[in-house]
Amino acid sequence: MDFSIYDSDQTLSWSEIEDMRKGKQIELEPVYTEALVPVDKCGGLRLHVLGSGSKGNCCVIEGPEGALMIDAGFSKKVAFERLDALKISRAKIKAILLTHEHSDHTKGLGVLSRGLQIPVYCTQGSSESRSVSKEVSPYIIHSRDSFDLAGIHIQTFPTSHDAREPIGFRFEGDGDAVSYVTDTGNLSAEAKELLSDARLLALESNHDPDMLKNGPYPYVLKQRIASETGHLSNVQAFEVLSTLISSRTQTVIGMHLSETNNKPDMSIKTLLPGIGTSPIKVYAARQNRPISYQ
Ligand SMILES: [Zn+2]
Ligand SMILES: [Zn+2]
Repeated sequence: MDFSIYDSDQTLSWSEIEDMRKGKQIELEPVYTEALVPVDKCGGLRLHVLGSGSKGNCCVIEGPEGALMIDAGFSKKVAFERLDALKISRAKIKAILLTHEHSDHTKGLGVLSRGLQIPVYCTQGSSESRSVSKEVSPYIIHSRDSFDLAGIHIQTFPTSHDAREPIGFRFEGDGDAVSYVTDTGNLSAEAKELLSDARLLALESNHDPDMLKNGPYPYVLKQRIASETGHLSNVQAFEVLSTLISSRTQTVIGMHLSETNNKPDMSIKTLLPGIGTSPIKVYAARQNRPISYQ
C-alpha cells in the first residue's frame, strides 16, 4: 500500500492504517472516476463529494444538463484539484447552493463563485451573515422553496442547527431523486418527508455519542454538538434511516463525519442495521478523499 497518495490528515481512519501496517487487507471505498458512465448517457443524477466533514464541505450534484455545487468549504485550489480528480467539468457547474453560513461550508464561497463565474443561492438568514455578505451578493431562496436550476428540480426544507436559517435539499431530475442533509440536530416531519424515497440519500452521521462524550472537546462544545441544534450522531442517523429508505433507495452516504469524534467504519457499522435486509450500499463520506457516488 502506497501511503503517499493519501493526505496525512486521516484520509484513512487510524484503525485502517493500523490494520494496514499489520498487513491486513482493507477494502477501501471505491473511488469512482473513469468507471462511471457519464450522466448524460446513463440519465439521472449523481452526487460527487469533494470532501465532507467538520473541516470543510463541498459537493456537486450533477444532472444531464448541468451541475450545482452544494456548499463551498474549500479553497479554490483544493476544490479545483478535486473537481479535476473526479473529472467534473467546471463549465458544467451553474450555481452554488448554500446550506448555511458556518465557515466549514463557506470558506471558499467568494473565490469559488468568482472563479467559476456562477451565482450563489442561499436563504435570507444566511445572506445576512458576515461570511456570506462580505463575499457575494446571493440570490435569496426560502427555507421552504421549490425551483429549477441547471435542469435539476430543487426543494428546500429547514434544518435544526445553530445557524441563522439553515436548510437541506431534495434534488430531482430525469426520474431520479437525491436527498441531502447535514448540520442538523434533529429531523422534523417535514424534513423526513423530503428526504425519504430518494435513490441516493446523503444523511449526516457526525459523531459517535461515546467518542464525543469521552473525547477532548470542552463540555460546552460537547453539549452544543449533541443538542437539538447541533449535529446528527451515527445513532440518530441509524434510528431514522429505516423510515427514509424505500424500494427505490440504492445508496446511503453518512455525511459530515467529525474527525475527532467519529470514524468512517463506526458510522457505516452503526448505519448498516438501519437498512435491514435491503441491498443498499452504505458509505461514509471522507474529509480528504473526493468520491463520486453511483
Ligand atoms: Zn454548521
Ligand atoms: Zn458543518
